[in-house]
Amino acid sequence: MENDNYYEKWAERRKEARDRERNRIKLERDNIDTINQCKDIDVLEFVCSNCKKEYSANSRKHIGKLGGKLTAWYVGKCPCGSYNLRRITDKKGDTFFLKSNTVKRMRVDNFNDTLDFTHPLFKVIYPKQYRELEEKRLKQYGN
Ligand SMILES: [Zn+2]
Repeated sequence: MENDNYYEKWAERRKEARDRERNRIKLERDNIDTINQCKDIDVLEFVCSNCKKEYSANSRKHIGKLGGKLTAWYVGKCPCGSYNLRRITDKKGDTFFLKSNTVKRMRVDNFNDTLDFTHPLFKVIYPKQYRELEEKRLKQYGN
């Protein structure tokens, strides 16, 4: 009886390890696809870490390894002389979208253009749809 349990757990651990490995390989393949889809030289927008100005420049693709993972980034030179980078693979770490004033302005300008259920104006503009969606939500999640 104990032996059966032991082998079941062993099979479960093996399955988990296999799934982890498959997932890792899939992520690596996606990473390589992303890198290959990007041009070697491209014109991109940058925010300078030195003079804080926004500029667009010809940038070159670089590929390297970070923590055993393949990673890629673009490097562009600011008119002030310093080099800045934009990430290709690790998009969450790309600080351009946090630093850029143009992106911030666009977010504010488009706030009222993109109405979804959670937007404060949705209730005012589409009262009937809001009620329907609210009833649906209450049925599904309770409160
Ligand atoms: Zn600069």
